Amino acid sequence: MADAFVDLRSDTVTRPTPGMREAMATAEVGDDVYGEDPTVNALEADVAALFGHEAALFAPSGSMANQIALQLLVSPGNELLCDADAHVVTYEIGAAAAYGGISSRTWPAVGADIDPEAVAGMIRPDGYFAVPTRAIAVEQTHNRGGGGVIPLATLRELRRIADDAEVALHCDGARIWHAHVADGVPLVEYGQLFDTLSVCLSKGLGAPVGSLVVGSAEKIERARLIRKRMGGGMRQAGILAAAGRYALAHHVDRLAEDHARAGRLAEAVAPFGVLAAAVRTNLVPLDLTKHALDARALAAAARDEGVLISVLGPRTARLVTHLDLDDAGVTHAATVLTRLLAA
Ligand SMILES: *Cc1c(COP(=O)(O)O)cnc(C)c1O
Repeated sequence: MADAFVDLRSDTVTRPTPGMREAMATAEVGDDVYGEDPTVNALEADVAALFGHEAALFAPSGSMANQIALQLLVSPGNELLCDADAHVVTYEIGAAAAYGGISSRTWPAVGADIDPEAVAGMIRPDGYFAVPTRAIAVEQTHNRGGGGVIPLATLRELRRIADDAEVALHCDGARIWHAHVADGVPLVEYGQLFDTLSVCLSKGLGAPVGSLVVGSAEKIERARLIRKRMGGGMRQAGILAAAGRYALAHHVDRLAEDHARAGRLAEAVAPFGVLAAAVRTNLVPLDLTKHALDARALAAAARDEGVLISVLGPRTARLVTHLDLDDAGVTHAATVLTRLLAA
């Protein structure tokens, strides 16, 4: 359906490349619930090493990877702190409460511009009647924060605060690859700052399915049980893991192209006062509050001209660049959006 369109709705719309399909077709497989799929085992070992952790676990989705991590860190009735726009409290349909019995408390949405001291002030110790804080979650890059990158210094400060308070730190790293490419921070450096990370292969990296939870050997052993309990045990999953391994080998450095194309789209729309945040990675957030067109009207008009964009709210829209776009498509989208916004 989307073939006739320049699809800027999400980086999840990518389809496996011929090289990736070849890797999938020839993958060695076994029953991963028995721990016998060599391709899954290799992917898990590779990703653990990339982040400097002992172990990793392949999961069907980023949401499941996040929820497994949160259940590892926060026991029922205890508290998670995150921001009000975080994926874990916005787009996971109440899973932390429904499956983990986790109480979530949020700081006001500031995207990647976290104030560590404000977060420190929210931490509640164990005590009579209080809900004890057990973990803090951050998102790198920040999805609803327009693909913003949390600076390394902020993350280090959060780590210090978490250590002082003896609470855990989780990273929803669905697009941590983009932060790595944008800021040049080694993945292993991010890895050492967090107790657990979730990372997605099916967003910018272009694999069809799959995310991983990363952490200590002890945590990942427990994670394996939680995954099975949630129905996430997969059998010959090496076919999917092969796509992920291919993506890690071929599609990380090229994210710079997606960032450059997002920058071009941002430049095209900026003169109309609709850019919601400075564009650092592959997301271009649009704030149409002061524009004649609302988000649905803009999306409908763009669609008529072969460009698909996301509607995130009545006056909020989003453009996303990814592997399945080329320069010609991005040029067409920039032309169409410029014309519509100028009208
Ligand atoms: C996409 C995404 C996830 C995971 O989404 P799934 O669709 O469940 O794979 C988690 N966190 C963020 C920030 C995301 O953008």
